[in-house]
Amino acid sequence: MSAPRLEIDLTKIQHNAGILVKRLKKRGISVSAITKSVLGSQEVANCFIRAGIKSLGDSRISNIEKMRHGQIKASMSLIRSPMLSQVDKVVAYADMSFNTELAVIRKLSIAAQKTRHRHGVVLMVELGDLREGIMPDDMESVVQSTLGLPGIILKGIGTNLACRSGVSPDNINMSKLSDLADSLESKFGVKFDIVSGGNSANLDWAMGSTDLGRVNNLRLGESILLGLETLNRRPIEGLHTDAFKLVVEVIESKIKPSQPWGKIAQNAFGEQMLFKDQGNISQAILAIGRQDIDPNGIRPPAGIKIIGSSSDHLIVQSEANDLAVGTEVVFQPNYSALMHAMTSPFVNKVM
Ligand SMILES: *Cc1c(COP(=O)(O)O)cnc(C)c1O
Repeated sequence: MSAPRLEIDLTKIQHNAGILVKRLKKRGISVSAITKSVLGSQEVANCFIRAGIKSLGDSRISNIEKMRHGQIKASMSLIRSPMLSQVDKVVAYADMSFNTELAVIRKLSIAAQKTRHRHGVVLMVELGDLREGIMPDDMESVVQSTLGLPGIILKGIGTNLACRSGVSPDNINMSKLSDLADSLESKFGVKFDIVSGGNSANLDWAMGSTDLGRVNNLRLGESILLGLETLNRRPIEGLHTDAFKLVVEVIESKIKPSQPWGKIAQNAFGEQMLFKDQGNISQAILAIGRQDIDPNGIRPPAGIKIIGSSSDHLIVQSEANDLAVGTEVVFQPNYSALMHAMTSPFVNKVM
């Protein structure tokens, strides 16, 4: 089989999704599965659906478009605020989008009216992580304006933590979201279908808190795909953490000095490298590079250490000196490496 390749175990992903759906259902929380890190893969999307998930989310409208063309039967949300230049596509392909800017929602309304669509909107609230979100004090006026826009249905509110800054979901920020839902509903006489509490970083809170308030949805990517909670990257009990394997092939294998020689300046990426003299080592080059993966995001097998990388080469040191040319080495990708590998046309995907 051709290398490099990402081997994807759909059975394990379906198992993970099924377990999280069941555990959260007992807590009154539905799961929206996030497909952005698998490039809107139809196979993975179908696997989520077989696990009982009814709603999918992606940050890229082109992934949603692809899943639509693949006849994926689920409600689809664009979870990144739409670009003004893409509102027509957003209305055509997504049932719903997450929004923080009235200028965008107004354009979505115009696009929806033009094509006689009804487009759902979830308003994202800023609760401290400082990525997307409307400041809580501004929510009232945004809700008021949104409710007045033809073609737009206000589906609810949501928030996203632990992404840019690592702010942990807790009873304080989550009850702020619930209180906002209550007060906005009573002020405007509406009922929100969705109060979306966050992403995989919310799992510990959702399973452990005695008061989930109004939160009735989570958007899960990494926890389903890699079986990890994402505040400390601990394995989730009962889930597979090895649904993805990255297989890479050796193209050079030699005994070389551990230290470069000559006058040392910056490398190809503007980095100043430091080397420790270990005498001669067994060094191998694998045919994958920064163009295809995040070299800091893949875990090598025991006895093999990553010691360098360039656009197209991954340089490893092998204790056992057993990496002959043509040998395949299997790595465990993290979320960042997974996302890169999925997006690289040079990495074959084998389901
Ligand atoms: C990526 C993303 C998610 C999913 O995050 P995971 O950590 O993979 O669960 C949820 N919501 C939004 C808005 C996102 O951008």
